[in-house]
Amino acid sequence: MTFRRFVATLLEVERASSRLAMVRMLAEAFRELPPEEVPLAVLLLQGRVAPEFEGLEFGVAEKEAVKALALVLGRDEAEVARAVKEKGDIGAYAREVLPEREGGLTVRQVYGELRAIAEDSGKGSQLRKRERLARLLAAASPEEAAVILRTVTGRLRLGVGDATVLEALALAFLGDRGKRPLLERAYNLTSDLAHVARLALEGEEALRAVKLEVGKPVRMMLAERLPGPEQIMEKLGPHYAEHKYDGERVQVHFNGERFWVYSRRLENITHQYPDLLAALGEVQQEPFIVEAEAVVVDPVTGEMRPFQNVLNRKVKHLTPELLEKYPVKGFVFEILYHDGKTLIDRPYTERRQALERWFRPHERLELSSKRFVETTEELVQFFDASIEAGCEGLVCKKPDGEYEAGKRGFKWVKYKRGIAGKLSDTLDLVVVGAWLGRGKRAGSYGSLLAAAYNPDEDRFETLTKVGSGFSDEDLGQVLPRRLDPYRREERHPRVWSLLEPDVWFDPALVVEVEAQEITLSPNHTCAYGVVQEGRGLALRFPRFVRYRDDKSPEEATSTKEVVEMYRNQWA
Ligand code: AMP
Repeated sequence: MTFRRFVATLLEVERASSRLAMVRMLAEAFRELPPEEVPLAVLLLQGRVAPEFEGLEFGVAEKEAVKALALVLGRDEAEVARAVKEKGDIGAYAREVLPEREGGLTVRQVYGELRAIAEDSGKGSQLRKRERLARLLAAASPEEAAVILRTVTGRLRLGVGDATVLEALALAFLGDRGKRPLLERAYNLTSDLAHVARLALEGEEALRAVKLEVGKPVRMMLAERLPGPEQIMEKLGPHYAEHKYDGERVQVHFNGERFWVYSRRLENITHQYPDLLAALGEVQQEPFIVEAEAVVVDPVTGEMRPFQNVLNRKVKHLTPELLEKYPVKGFVFEILYHDGKTLIDRPYTERRQALERWFRPHERLELSSKRFVETTEELVQFFDASIEAGCEGLVCKKPDGEYEAGKRGFKWVKYKRGIAGKLSDTLDLVVVGAWLGRGKRAGSYGSLLAAAYNPDEDRFETLTKVGSGFSDEDLGQVLPRRLDPYRREERHPRVWSLLEPDVWFDPALVVEVEAQEITLSPNHTCAYGVVQEGRGLALRFPRFVRYRDDKSPEEATSTKEVVEMYRNQWA
């Protein structure tokens, strides 16, 4: 397929009126592509040349892209830089000034060039990247150049969610978008959309046969919530409760030689945990995949420190000083692969036994503390013990529950401390719009429009306006800096809203919000009509708590969870 046709599809998708229209347009384009170009197109749709977990980035700063564009235009760099700044977007500027050209580039060619740009590294790579980019731009039409420039500078952001791509692939190659769950399963096990596209082309058989692979992140299983110990006992019956450690969840892969560490968002964060990996390397020789909570401990007393401490490790160059100041301990609670066997389909009790066999003591490693509980009293006792030990509460696990990759279900239920007069848990919501500030907040945002995620419809449904809880710094600089890159003229097609904020955003930024209660509302779309006809759900007295950069928009609190929280308020 020509890249031109592909770009035309992207523009159509960007303007699509509904998600279903998006799915149809994408499916049509997938069918038109030669099979070998389908996985490449799937990657380009995400603005990437490799799955995110491979960590292959373009390494082209906007400054460099400007230089490449100046080269093609034969203009002065400073002049082009100024014009781009004025326009606010390098793609829009390129579209305006480049001459019309019948490019004839194919998807494969563009992918190949972009991949070469990403892979080039080391001495002199900046110059080579720039020259390669300039050659590509010189062969492209203005529309094509705009997409290429946005891609290499990380600003493509079409807002096509993974679920939408999977549904379009199902429609294109299995003839039925209702077969999305089959593709979802393959995606949950491999986290690789391009690979799933390849399997979908082969057919249902290939999709069913997919297995997890050491090195490729498995999408993490998540915990449901219930209001209190009685409900947990009722739902799970006698079960295993484990301490809920408050650190960063890590999925560690080892193939016998090499380690990978993935975050909850499946980013490759291997470089963040050299000490943890050294510990594992000392005691393990055989391949495995395990999950642990990495918790910073006091270097002197060994006591656990709160979550915020691990954020100090999220820097480019982790120095020995930082490692010494913020040492971590890994509390291992899950095993997905060991001894050449995939364990995710095995019940919890069997996985836990395998985990205990796998485990070797080390001062930096510990098994998650667990207890078999048969009564509410035992559960509450263990909960109190966990708080005393410096944990957040418990994760209660169903003895026969398998590891459900990428799902939030009642095989795991979290039990956290509730604060009187407040909902017992906070919500992680996606910012989809905002109202401009007045008075003291002029020039910034006054309040944000925040939404929950509906995975069945793959859309964001509004739940609340949040205006309190922000510091002066948040209001002054942080919010505009974080949100402005996502601003858009109109409502995003995956956002469902009855309110009209002053500005709209791509669903990207996730924030944690606390509130006093959940009420019915005619103004919000969250779970609209589910509890009562003509009503959605809304938060009362919402307050911003913190940014949740570790969560993708699709990992936000789901609309189903909000309904459960609503119903559980009086339970
Ligand atoms: P939440 O982030 O509130 O949805 O709670 C679930 C999280 O608790 C998981 O994603 C883990 O990061 C964390 N966690 C801490 N200890 C455990 C444990 N023993 N088992 C499972 N998850 C745990």
